[in-house]
Amino acid sequence: MTAKIIDGKQIAADMRAELKAEVAKLKDKGIVPGLAVILVGEDPASQSYVTAKEKACAEAGIYSDDNRLPEDTTQEKLMALVERMNKDARINGILVQLPLPGHLNEWEVLFAIDPAKDVDGFHPVNVGKMVVGEKGFLPCTPHGVIQLLIRSGVKLEGAEVVIVGRSNIVGKPLANMLIQKNKKGNATVTVCHTRTKDLASHTRRADIVIAAAGRPNTVTADMIKDGAVVIDVGVNRVEDATKKKGYRLVGDVDFEAVKEKASFITPVPGGVGPMTITMLLYNTVESAKRAAGIA
Ligand code: NAP
Repeated sequence: MTAKIIDGKQIAADMRAELKAEVAKLKDKGIVPGLAVILVGEDPASQSYVTAKEKACAEAGIYSDDNRLPEDTTQEKLMALVERMNKDARINGILVQLPLPGHLNEWEVLFAIDPAKDVDGFHPVNVGKMVVGEKGFLPCTPHGVIQLLIRSGVKLEGAEVVIVGRSNIVGKPLANMLIQKNKKGNATVTVCHTRTKDLASHTRRADIVIAAAGRPNTVTADMIKDGAVVIDVGVNRVEDATKKKGYRLVGDVDFEAVKEKASFITPVPGGVGPMTITMLLYNTVESAKRAAGIA
């Protein structure tokens, strides 16, 4: 069997077109969704993520408030900016680009964000709402994974899902979302990590394997059953002298071998990646609708 490639770029483009149409309708009602982006320091990867987020906002018609602060910004200054954005009625979402420079207290900053504007879904109020199945904001990468599965026609109800990775931003929230008693869930979920005794014994019985380990070749062809659905969240740099930058990006899955056995598979790049920013836009639009009392 050769797997159908789940085209994350296309699914993200479809969702962004839907959001753009929704934003245009909101504008007719005088509602303009707004996202505040806060970046501290000069980290090149963070700068390019932030630029991509702002560009995506502009394309969707979402107002973005760009806040780029110097590396030596104090905790007090950063907290004051978050507080200002909490009170600013033009702002529906606040995104603090992580990681923050070492001298800043990340948790204190994230906890200070008004949960009603926490479009990253990292505030404990939103984490709690997700766990008990109440409406809050779902974190973008795991929600993007679920959208990819649903929009590719993969059945979640009753599926055996094995997630490799238990981080707070991917593995844990994904597991929580997939066990909810709703149409984005109803799966039977196993979460594996570095202390799991025999990883392959779990992945081999899975209908859906989701790799979020941050290590190339964590999932190989011998570790999946025929016809499994394989989602690769990992993004890893591996040296490649043939590339101008000296490296290329790969996921956590041995893509070439696994695609000959799976029924669906996501590539890296072009799979989960494009969905993360899309779900950030989705949350910002959702927040603007809630603020206007129409969601
Ligand atoms: P993380 O915080 O480093 O967590 C990695 C998890 O994988 C940990 O729970 C770790 O177990 C587990 N793990 C690592 N190696 C393993 C192995 N050989 N066998 C079993 N479990 C293993 O990483 P993360 O933030 O969740 O990110 C995971 C990957 O997704 C990274 O490559 C990251 O770049 C990528 N990512 C992509 C997007 C996107 O938009 N596409 C967004 C977020 C993250 P322990 O807990 O035991 O250490």
